[in-house]
Amino acid sequence: MQEKSEVVCEVCKLQLDKIAEARHLTELELKVLNQPKRVININIPIIMDDGSTRIFPAYRVQYNDARGPTKGGIRFHPKVNKKEINELAFLMSLKCALVDIPLSGGKGGVQVNPRELSEGELQRLSRAYIREFAPFIGPDRDIPAPDVNTNPKVMGWMLDEYEKITGKKAPGVITGKPLTIGGSRGRLYSTSLGGAIILGEYMKSAGKGGKGTTVAIQGFGNVGSHLARILDEWGYKIVAVSDSKGGIYNKSGLDVKKLVKENDGKNVQEIGGGEKISNEELLELGVDVVVPAAIENVINIKNMKNIRAKIVLEMANGPVTTGADDYLEEKGVVVLPDILANSGGVVVSYLEWVQNQCNYYWKEDEVNRKLEEYMGHAFAETEKVRAEAKGSYRRAAYIVAIKRILKAEEDRGIIVKKKA
Ligand code: GLU
Repeated sequence: MQEKSEVVCEVCKLQLDKIAEARHLTELELKVLNQPKRVININIPIIMDDGSTRIFPAYRVQYNDARGPTKGGIRFHPKVNKKEINELAFLMSLKCALVDIPLSGGKGGVQVNPRELSEGELQRLSRAYIREFAPFIGPDRDIPAPDVNTNPKVMGWMLDEYEKITGKKAPGVITGKPLTIGGSRGRLYSTSLGGAIILGEYMKSAGKGGKGTTVAIQGFGNVGSHLARILDEWGYKIVAVSDSKGGIYNKSGLDVKKLVKENDGKNVQEIGGGEKISNEELLELGVDVVVPAAIENVINIKNMKNIRAKIVLEMANGPVTTGADDYLEEKGVVVLPDILANSGGVVVSYLEWVQNQCNYYWKEDEVNRKLEEYMGHAFAETEKVRAEAKGSYRRAAYIVAIKRILKAEEDRGIIVKKKA
């Protein structure tokens, strides 16, 4: 089932409108950016362990394919819906363009609470997703990856199913795979390393050092825990972390090594080392940097006035709502936007895909050096436009990305520029 869908998310639309006005985008250019190229919705039946059948709504959005095959993760979450996947696919388009990799934006999802499934049910659902969407994906077409509640193990099942269907090896169809079946060294923590690099670049440009800078991180999953580890190693002071069960705060700094070591199976409050706080309280701490690294819309009009951090590093996708984004900008809070801050994941996904296509694999240092180059370049380009346009980092990042997408559409002859 394919259908056309509506315009992108509120926060994206607002940015687009502001940029359209300032940069004189034409109606056609806005239309190209405002709607996805393809939205696929398949309701997937799964036979559960008890013999009953459950039907899971599943989606894949291929938002814009001007710059290369579409790329983006698959999330398993009870709140997944068409609108959300559409918005996230739009963000992936911008992200890929901003870091200047030859890929476009896509996203997928299944409306499911994976915690309610047995391991067998989860594997059947993962394989069924690929069976249903196989005609639409491929190493030169659309390349999924992990996202919220999916991981290398799920990617391994998905790759195996795809290769069974097509009858040949195709490691480049999916990224974020286990190392043994074509994964890239460094991919597991690349989103976090990318975010740490962006924060470091910002600190440098603002004439500040990272040492002793206080940081609070909301979300202690793959992204949040690796970010805490890396920033701790770089001399930042991690004073608060949280997961879905709540957080801990210690103004002298948490024992990050212990938290990372004992994270498997225990929540952060059980591990301890600080005063117990809620997820909401964590965001409102008087720290230098607050990092929403879990879900969308956590900084919104209800709590925006209580945000005391000077820097917000968006490691989740879309953690700040439109109203809050405007307010923070006015207040002078620096928001390092998702499409810049968390793009390290898709950069190393791209590097994984390149290694798959060449069947030649690099050492961890080489992957990380390349990641550093991509991130440094993306930050420099964003900073340059921000200095010229005098807006937020988000607006500057959108401008850089949009320009590249529209230029690709123009070079394809889809957008025809009138001669001046
Ligand atoms: N899910 C990640 C993101 O939102 C990674 C996507 C990818 O590697 O394709 O950026």
